[in-house]
Amino acid sequence: MTPSGGRYDAIVLGVGGVGSAATYHLARRGASVLGLERFDVPHARGSSHGRTRLLQRLLDADPATMALADRAHDSWRALEAETGRDLLTETGSLAVAVGGDEPVASGRRACERHGLDHESLSGADLTERFPGYAFPDDAEALYQPDGAVVASERGVVAHVAAALDAGATVRARERVVDWEAVDGGVRVDTDRDTYRADRLVVTAGAWAAQAVDALDGLLEPCRHATAWFAPGGDRSAALADDRLPPFVATVDGENFYGLPGPDLPGMKFGRADFRPTAPDALSEPTQADERPLRAFAEEYVPGAAGSTLRLSTGLVTNSPDGRFVLDTLANGRVAVAAGLSGRGYKFAPALGEILADLALDGGTDFDISGYALGRFE
Ligand SMILES: Cc1cc2nc3c(=O)[nH]c(=O)nc-3n(C[C@H](O)[C@H](O)[C@H](O)COP(=O)(O)OP(=O)(O)OC[C@H]3O[C@@H](n4cnc5c(N)ncnc54)[C@H](O)[C@@H]3O)c2cc1C
Repeated sequence: MTPSGGRYDAIVLGVGGVGSAATYHLARRGASVLGLERFDVPHARGSSHGRTRLLQRLLDADPATMALADRAHDSWRALEAETGRDLLTETGSLAVAVGGDEPVASGRRACERHGLDHESLSGADLTERFPGYAFPDDAEALYQPDGAVVASERGVVAHVAAALDAGATVRARERVVDWEAVDGGVRVDTDRDTYRADRLVVTAGAWAAQAVDALDGLLEPCRHATAWFAPGGDRSAALADDRLPPFVATVDGENFYGLPGPDLPGMKFGRADFRPTAPDALSEPTQADERPLRAFAEEYVPGAAGSTLRLSTGLVTNSPDGRFVLDTLANGRVAVAAGLSGRGYKFAPALGEILADLALDGGTDFDISGYALGRFE
């Protein structure tokens, strides 16, 4: 039977952060590619909304992940040049430790091991240099000049725009309901049509385990809340600079983060509070989500503890060991990126490139051995 929807070299299941990048890299390499997205392009029900993501290398200390970070950084810049869109703001980044030495100690070790520029600061140094911050004088901090902020929805839109320019087809509001390996390729059934392709690329984020049986029971989608507070009070002038470095901070064992801009004044705050949820049941943010973030801002970033401008929830999909799954299945007919464990967005262009390599060449020059699905067997 000839599928009514047509035949492609590759179909990408899920056009979010990574899927938009994969669609672009496949199309750029001359493949006929169809990207299928169940919601909108972009949307706020998955993992890539919320305006900004932190690009910081200290949490990703192994060489393979470092290589990904380097490639991703270059690829974001190349995408900016190609599309004429601002995506990456070089801000530098901070790790701050209050009541302990993490994440500063491990960050410093990673910088030393990989020869990355870094500077050790006390809390007092930090406030002098960046008056927006009011961590205790005896806090420890690590400044990395190569940290940056990526505009996440803009990144999805830029990848889709560039993919369309390169000849890709992207269909939103079309959910993949099933796929099957057939006749040397795949058949993909959606709630609108049926398509054929030589290869399937699965980038379904929190829904990955629904799309790939081998991931069932391995991945844990979790709800994660963030808040944006307006500038306010005496120190708000110190926040006017869009290049205030974003930070991750551990305060008495609890992890928080904060990012400036773009677009909205003030700062966005989050904390490491990840609650398992079915992805279709992601609930709205509440005042209970907001309270600890506001308390943190009032104490440590007082110029950014003004009125609430926005609250948001998104999905973080954890793998059992906190590392990605990046692999092929079904005798190489299916390439998958999943379980990005709250740290995948910054790598999206590099992951898209690798998925295109896997789908079109059956392999990649990147070392992805540490991300194989087989490690969980
Ligand atoms: C609040 C928050 C803060 C974060 N902070 C950072 C950070 O600072 N730095 C960082 O690097 N990472 C961060 N992350 C993690 C990062 O954002 C994610 O790892 C990344 O966005 C995941 O991208 P994805 O493409 O896998 O998922 P998504 O962008 O969600 O894309 C998956 C897509 O697949 C679609 N889909 C699923 N099933 C189907 C189907 N059956 N048919 C069609 N379409 C389907 C979905 O609708 C979705 O659009 C954060 C995550 C959150 C939620």
